[in-house]
Amino acid sequence: MEDCIFCKIVMGEIPSTKVYEDDEMLIFKDISPIAKIHLLCVPKEHFARIHDMDQRRAALVGRMLLKIASLEHTLGLDEGYRLVINQGESAGQTVHHLHIHILGGETLKWE
Ligand code: 5GP
Ligand code: ZN
Repeated sequence: MEDCIFCKIVMGEIPSTKVYEDDEMLIFKDISPIAKIHLLCVPKEHFARIHDMDQRRAALVGRMLLKIASLEHTLGLDEGYRLVINQGESAGQTVHHLHIHILGGETLKWE
């Protein structure tokens, strides 16, 4: 997708601090962290929202969750973490390429 920041990060056209990559997903540090650890897990395939998922994409997102779970220790998330997927304007979604926020490294407030 042209003009998609996360597609450009996936393609290496915009630099990022990658912490994990395989042929179908990428995990990198958020540029404006809101927690001590703030990572983004993105599928390499562009689609904007959960609403755009079919069974195949849902399986991919399932593998993203399994990968996050397998990396808990490596990423310093042993004490717990929060996963967030912002959907649409009222949730504050600013990048329209599906992404899972991974927040941790500290005690997280729930307001
Ligand atoms: P959203 O609000 O769409 O759920 O989250 C988008 C996230 O992407 C934000 O937390 C923002 O800080 C992050 N972000 C936006 N542009 C870039 C960028 O160029 N590089 C990185 N690493 N993160 C970005
Ligand atoms: Zn994209």
